[in-house]
Amino acid sequence: MRNIINNSLDSCVGCNRCVRVCPIDEANIAYEENGRVKVRIDHSKCIACGNCLTVCHHGSRYFEDDTERFIKDLRSGVQISMFAGPALKSNFEEYERLFTWLHSLGVKSIYDVSLGADICTWAHIRYIQKNGPKPIISQPCPAIVNYILMHRNDLLKYLSPVHSPMLCTAVFMRKYENVKTKIAALSPCVAKAYEFDATGIVEYNVTFKKLREYMEKNNVVLPTKATKFDNYDAALGSLYPMPGGLKESVEHYVGKALRVDKSEGLEVYKALDEYLECSKTSSSLLPVLFDVLNCGHGCNLGTGCTKDIDIFKINAKMDKLRQESIKKENIEYTTNELFKKFDDTLKLEDFIRKYTLCTVRPVPITQEQIEQAFIRLGKQDDKSRHFSCGACGNDTCYEMAVRVAKGVNIPNNCAEKTHADVKREHDEIKILSRGNLESFETVLSETSRIKEMVDGMVSNVGDITSSITLYDRMIMDIERISEKVNIISLNASVEAAKAGQHGLAFGVVAREIRGLAQSSANSAAKTKLVSEKANQAVKLVNKSMETIDKNVKSSYENISAVAQQTKKALSSNVS
Ligand code: SF4
Ligand code: SF4
Ligand code: SF4
Repeated sequence: MRNIINNSLDSCVGCNRCVRVCPIDEANIAYEENGRVKVRIDHSKCIACGNCLTVCHHGSRYFEDDTERFIKDLRSGVQISMFAGPALKSNFEEYERLFTWLHSLGVKSIYDVSLGADICTWAHIRYIQKNGPKPIISQPCPAIVNYILMHRNDLLKYLSPVHSPMLCTAVFMRKYENVKTKIAALSPCVAKAYEFDATGIVEYNVTFKKLREYMEKNNVVLPTKATKFDNYDAALGSLYPMPGGLKESVEHYVGKALRVDKSEGLEVYKALDEYLECSKTSSSLLPVLFDVLNCGHGCNLGTGCTKDIDIFKINAKMDKLRQESIKKENIEYTTNELFKKFDDTLKLEDFIRKYTLCTVRPVPITQEQIEQAFIRLGKQDDKSRHFSCGACGNDTCYEMAVRVAKGVNIPNNCAEKTHADVKREHDEIKILSRGNLESFETVLSETSRIKEMVDGMVSNVGDITSSITLYDRMIMDIERISEKVNIISLNASVEAAKAGQHGLAFGVVAREIRGLAQSSANSAAKTKLVSEKANQAVKLVNKSMETIDKNVKSSYENISAVAQQTKKALSSNVS
C-alpha cells in the first residue's frame, strides 16, 4: 500500500493530538529526539482515516494524492474521464465552471457519483432481497474498509459486498457507458486511493483540497461558461456525502421495513468494536444495514476537503438537493421508476466487490510487561495508575502503559511522570541550594573576618609609614647634629693648635669628636638608605593592601548577593 498520510517530523511538537484521535493503537509511535517527544506514523498500520490531518496544527501531518500526476498526464495528451463525488456540490459552489476548465484541459466526460450512489442503494436493496436480511456494514468509506481488512478481520463477513458509490460509478462508466479512457476521481477523500488501487478501475484520486491548491498556485481563473454532468440526473444519491445518507436513501425506497443504524466520526470505530462483540453473543440485535462513515460530517467535510465551509451551509445545500430530487421524482419518475430502470439495464454482480485481507497483527504483550511499563511510568500505586489526565493522547493511564509495553510510546510522554520528575529534581536542587546557602554563609563570615584583618593590616601599614616618616626626621636631626659637631670639632682643633703644647690633649679630643661626628654622619647616611628602601617596600605593601582590600570587598558583595538570591529562590519555590 502506498503511503498517503505522511509526517514532517521537524515540525512535530509532540502535542499528542494525533495519538488522541487515531483509532489504531499502534499507528502512531512516540519517541524522543534531543529531549523532545515526537510522534511518527507507522504506515504499515495506518488506515488513512485522516483524523490526524485535521488535528495537527503544526503542519507535521500532510497527505499526498494524484492531482499533479493527473494534470501532467492531461497536459501530455492522456485520455481521461472523470467522476465527481456529490460532496463537490457543497465544496465547489462553482463546480459547473470548474467542469468547463477541466474539459479545456482535455477531460473527456464527467459523471456524477450521485448516480453511482443511487446504484449503490439499489444494489444493497436487491442484494438483501436476494440473500435475506442479514446484517451488513456499508462500505462507502475506504478508511473503514481498511480498518476491517487490516485490524478487524472478524468483521469481514459483515462488510457489504456492494461497491462504494464511486466504484459503482466507475463500473457504470466502463461497462454501461463504454468509457474507454482512464478514469480519475474528483474526490473528498484521501483514503479513496487505497480503494482505487485495490480494485484497479480508477487511475487517479484528485482531491478537492489539492485541486484547489493547484488552482491557487497557478492562478487559474475559471471560465464563466458552466458545463453540466455527462450522465442523466440522479435521485437521492446526492445525499450520500452527509451522515446517514445511505440510510435516508434506503428508507426512501423501502420505508422502515429494514432497520438501518448509522454511526460516524471517531465514535464509529468504537461502534464497530461493539458490533463485533454483539455479533458474537447476540447478533439478532444487529441492524440489517449499518451505515458508517469515518468523518463526523460525512464526505462533505471529508479528509480531502478544504474544511472551510459552514456545516449549516452544507446542510442547507443537502436539503436543497433532497427537495429537488423528490420533486423531480414526483414529476419524472413513477414510484421506483429509477430502480426499474436499473433492474432493466444493470447486473447486480457487476457491482459486487471482492476483498483481500491485509491483516496487521497487534504487538503481543503480557500482563507482566504492562506492570513493568507502569513502573517505568513511575506509577506504583492505584491512585497514580488512575490519574488518566489524557495528556499523552491516551484516555487512561492503563492504555498508555499498554502502549509503552508495546514500544509505541515512551514514559517521558506522560505529563504526570514528567511533572513528578521535575518536582524530584527541584527538591534535589532545593536540598543542594540549602547546603550551598550554609556554605555561602560560612564563606561570608570568613570573608568578613578576612576583611577585618585586611582593614587592620591597612591601618598597621599606615602606622609603619608614620614611624618611617618620624624615623626619617630623626635621621635628618642626627645628620644636622653630626654636621654641627664636626664644625665644632674643627673649631676645637683650630683652637687646640693655637694653644700649642697646652692644646695638644684638647686637639686629640677634638679629633676624636670629629671622628665620631663623621661616623654618625656615615651611619645616618646608611640608615637613610635603609629607610628609603623600607619606605618603597611599605609603598608596595600599601598598594597591594589596597588591591586586596578592594577584591575582598567585591568578593564579599558577590557572595552576599548570591546568598540573598539563593535565599529568595528557596523561599519563593513551591514546596
Ligand atoms: S498532532 Fe501529532 S504530528 Fe502533529 S504536532 Fe502534534 S504530535 Fe506532532
Ligand atoms: S491517518 Fe488515521 S490511522 Fe493513520 S495515523 Fe492518522 S489518525 Fe492514525
Ligand atoms: S497520567 Fe500520564 S499516562 Fe496517565 S493519562 Fe496522564 S499523561 Fe497519560
